[in-house]
Amino acid sequence: MNTAVRHDFRSDTVTRPGPAMRAAMAAAEVGDDVFGDDPTVRRLEARMADMLGKEASLFVPSGTQSNLIALMAHCERGDEYIVGQTAHCYRWEAGGAAVLGSIQPQPLTNQPDGTLLLADIEATIKPDDPHFARTRLLALENTIGGKVLPLSYVDAATAMARRHGLACHLDGARVFNAAVALGVSVDTLARPFDTVSVCLSKGLGAPVGSVFAGSAPIIAKGRRLRKMLGGGLRQSGILAAAGLYALEHNVERLADDHANARALAQGLSALPGLSVSKPDTNIVFVNVAAKYASAFAEHLAGQGIGVTSAYGATQQRWVTHLDVGKAAVATALAAASEFFAAGATGTPAR
Ligand SMILES: *Cc1c(COP(=O)(O)O)cnc(C)c1O
Repeated sequence: MNTAVRHDFRSDTVTRPGPAMRAAMAAAEVGDDVFGDDPTVRRLEARMADMLGKEASLFVPSGTQSNLIALMAHCERGDEYIVGQTAHCYRWEAGGAAVLGSIQPQPLTNQPDGTLLLADIEATIKPDDPHFARTRLLALENTIGGKVLPLSYVDAATAMARRHGLACHLDGARVFNAAVALGVSVDTLARPFDTVSVCLSKGLGAPVGSVFAGSAPIIAKGRRLRKMLGGGLRQSGILAAAGLYALEHNVERLADDHANARALAQGLSALPGLSVSKPDTNIVFVNVAAKYASAFAEHLAGQGIGVTSAYGATQQRWVTHLDVGKAAVATALAAASEFFAAGATGTPAR
C-alpha cells in the first residue's frame, strides 16, 4: 500500500528482514545453484527435507511456483487434481496449472472448517474411461484460511485418496503455524503426503522463497520443472541464508503471533457491529456490519492500521506476524474502540 501504514496487518508476507537476518544473508557462502554449487542452498534443502521427514527438497522463488511444480510433477497433460474451491493452488495462482501444465482442476466446496467432504472427494474420482480426465492427485492446504486441518481428517482423506491410486500434495505455505498450534513437529503434518510446499516468506519472516519437498525422484523431476519455469537461480544462497535463519529463530515464536491473533479477535469481538471468528493461528476474519463498514475501514486507514478488506469492507482479514507485536495489537484495538466509542453512526469519528 504505502508508507502511511504503520501497523500492517494485511498479511504475514509484509515482514521485513531484521539486522540479524540481513547479517546472515550478507555472510552467506554462495555458488551457482543451477550447477548445484551453492552450499547455503544445499544446506537449506537438506535441513528442510530433514524437518519435513522427506528424502529431498528444492528451494524455489515462490509458493506459487512450488505448487505449480508439484502439480506438474504429479500430473501429465489431461490429468486432473482434486482441490478446494478456496485453495490457493486453485483460486489464487492465476490458473497456472491449466495454463502451463494442461492440468484440469476438479474443485470441490470447502466446508467452513476448510476440509473437503470425504464423500465429495470419493464421488468425484473418475473411473479409467476415455471420456474423463485422469484423476491423479488430491491437493490439500494446511493451514487453510488460518484454520488447522484436524490430523484425523488428513489421515482419512489421504488414505482414501491412496486407495484410489491418487498421490497427495500438501500446500503447507503456513504448515509451521499449524504445527505450532497443534504442538506437534512439522514432519507429523507432512507424513501423510507425497509432497509438501512450505513458504519461508510468510510468518517465518524470510524476504523470498519457498521449499518443495518429497521423494528424491520427484524432487529431481521438480528440479527440471523449476528450470523450465524460470526458477533456476544462481547465487541464491543469499536468499537461502535468510530461510535458514528463519528456521533457526522464527518457528517457535509463531506461538506469539497466535496469541496476538487471539487477543486481537477477543478485543474486536467486544465491539458492536463486528463479528469475529476465533482464530486457530495467525489470521483473524472480521465481519463488519454494512452500516459501519466503509467508515470503519477509513478510520483504521487514517490511523495507519493496514487490514485487507473485501466485499465493500464488510469482510476484513487481519494477520499477525513478526512485525506486528503486542503493542501494535493494543494500538489497533484502541483505534477500533475509538471508532465505536465515538458513537459510530456510519460517520467516521475523526
Ligand atoms: C502465500 C501462499 C502461497 C503462495 O506463495 P507466494 O510465495 O506468494 O507465491 C501458496 N499457498 C498458500 C496457502 C499461501 O498462503
